[in-house]
Amino acid sequence: MGLSIQISPQQLVAPVIDSRQVMPGVFYLKLKAPPVASLARPGQFAMLGCGPDVLLRRPLSFHNANSDTGEVTFLYGVVGRGTRWLSQLKPGDTVDILGPLGNGFTIKPDSKNILIIAGGMGVAPLCFLARQAQDGGRSVTLLLGAASAANLCPAELLPAAATCQTATEDGSAGVKGLITDCLPQYIDKADQVFACGPLPMYRTLAKELSLQGKPVQVSLEVRMACGLGVCYGCSIKTRDGMKKVCRDGPVFSMQEVAWEELAGL
Ligand SMILES: Cc1cc2nc3c(=O)[nH]c(=O)nc-3n(C[C@H](O)[C@H](O)[C@H](O)COP(=O)(O)OP(=O)(O)OC[C@H]3O[C@@H](n4cnc5c(N)ncnc54)[C@H](O)[C@@H]3O)c2cc1C
Repeated sequence: MGLSIQISPQQLVAPVIDSRQVMPGVFYLKLKAPPVASLARPGQFAMLGCGPDVLLRRPLSFHNANSDTGEVTFLYGVVGRGTRWLSQLKPGDTVDILGPLGNGFTIKPDSKNILIIAGGMGVAPLCFLARQAQDGGRSVTLLLGAASAANLCPAELLPAAATCQTATEDGSAGVKGLITDCLPQYIDKADQVFACGPLPMYRTLAKELSLQGKPVQVSLEVRMACGLGVCYGCSIKTRDGMKKVCRDGPVFSMQEVAWEELAGL
């Protein structure tokens, strides 16, 4: 990725403004955190405290950050103890937040047409990116894939002006199949491609010949402990040697990642 300026993350106790379920097992969380909101960029993440019984904070990407209102939002799936604790928050409760962390996405100044590929929960950081691209006058196409219609991100949480193509594995909404099946229709027009999703989606993209000459940035949501580059727990193998997802990422050039070595996601 290009040069990234590391800004000191802010740590604060943030009041919950909104917390609700928006899809089966998926929650939306809005916090008042002005120092974080004014610094956060698309693709960056925050470490959120998950209550007295969960030792390590958990990483979540910014779904949005608004420096005018001082609010940050997150979209997350409940998968274990930490996210279960977060899902029980009510307006007025507080959350310990540390961020923004990581490098974030880079939109090239000469990119006019942006193609965004979201698989499942991968949509979370890409909404913020799409909004920023649109604010900069770019055209945004969002390819959104999910298992079924019930798992598609609700329209009110998606960037309003984006052209949106959906695909579901069971055919209950949009095209039946995987979102990567829709790529041939959209790839030629794209100046830059951004993706976030599960490992099988990335493996498919990495093999996709039509993407070989395109700049593609991906966000890696590997398991992470400290989020600060101290513990090396999130190290991955890249074509340029070992990299820490929390400090050198979570956004990487797709061509840079040694996909055959990566497990999990
Ligand atoms: C930079 C970054 C950004 C992220 N952004 C988002 C986001 O915006 N929305 C969202 O829903 N999730 C996101 N994640 C994943 C999220 O951090 C984990 O789902 C969360 O930490 C799980 O915590 P837990 O205590 O609920 O589950 P745990 O009890 O820690 O784990 C429960 C199970 O979840 C799985 N799991 C745990 N961590 C991850 C992970 N990082 N990736 C995949 N599976 C995992 C494991 O298989 C484990 O068995 C992000 C991860 C990273 C590194």
